[in-house]
Amino acid sequence: MSRMTDPIDLASRIRYVMVRTSHPGNIGSAARAIRTMGFRRLELVTPARFPDREAYALAAGADDVLEGAGVHAELVDGLLGCNLALGLSARRRGVNLPEISPREAAAQALAAAARGEQVALVFGNERSGLENGELARCHAMVRIPSVDDFSSLNLSQAVQVMAYELRVAMLGQAPAVPVAANRELPADAAQMERFYEHLAQTLDDIEFHKGRAPTTIMLRLRKLFQRAQLDERELRVLHGILADAQRMAGLAKERSQE
Ligand code: SAH
Repeated sequence: MSRMTDPIDLASRIRYVMVRTSHPGNIGSAARAIRTMGFRRLELVTPARFPDREAYALAAGADDVLEGAGVHAELVDGLLGCNLALGLSARRRGVNLPEISPREAAAQALAAAARGEQVALVFGNERSGLENGELARCHAMVRIPSVDDFSSLNLSQAVQVMAYELRVAMLGQAPAVPVAANRELPADAAQMERFYEHLAQTLDDIEFHKGRAPTTIMLRLRKLFQRAQLDERELRVLHGILADAQRMAGLAKERSQE
């Protein structure tokens, strides 16, 4: 069994997520940028000002994108239902994610969308970019190959570059892609978040940290599991293992108190 996907479907599975945007003008320019390339889905995570007159002024008519934009308190909410998140960053950060070009990112995003997955392109704040904790929720880091001594593009221009690459990739690909109907979907961002919480709690329960701060090891473990792109069945197995480890730790504690 296979089903076919057309380019409109593909575009609707790709969302642009803007995190902690300071200038509403950049939100408007980004809305225009994605709309010109055939995309509509914008998600805003704690924007400083939105809705705002300046956003509408710079959207130049892409009002449907602004009106449809979700506003969220947390990045994980903006990534709801997402199977692949690609974080755009001008600089390499502490999180050692694979670094890919916008072209490679577009190819990966389209391949995922053609498999029926939801994809996010994640953009950071104008001044500070994406923080480590935000990049840790992504599967790869996308760097637009700017010059080293002046590497940071205007936020909405970075959105435009990525949307353009996706558009070119979409125009170049075969119109219909067969997708197997019975495969397991990769886990989405919220499912991964629940897994990381379970993992962190279990590491506490089995006294793994021995006085060390858990932050670094949790970031490393996130990197490992993000790279693995777990599907829902694999995630259920891992939850099962963690639950058993917690149960055994509980039993050991009871015995030591006897
Ligand atoms: N000083 C910040 C720059 C932020 S620019 C930093 O170093 O990250 C605002 C956003 O635009 C970034 O978070 C990123 O999402 C995007 N951006 C700007 N220049 C980029 C580049 N060369 N490659 C990838 N993304 C870029």
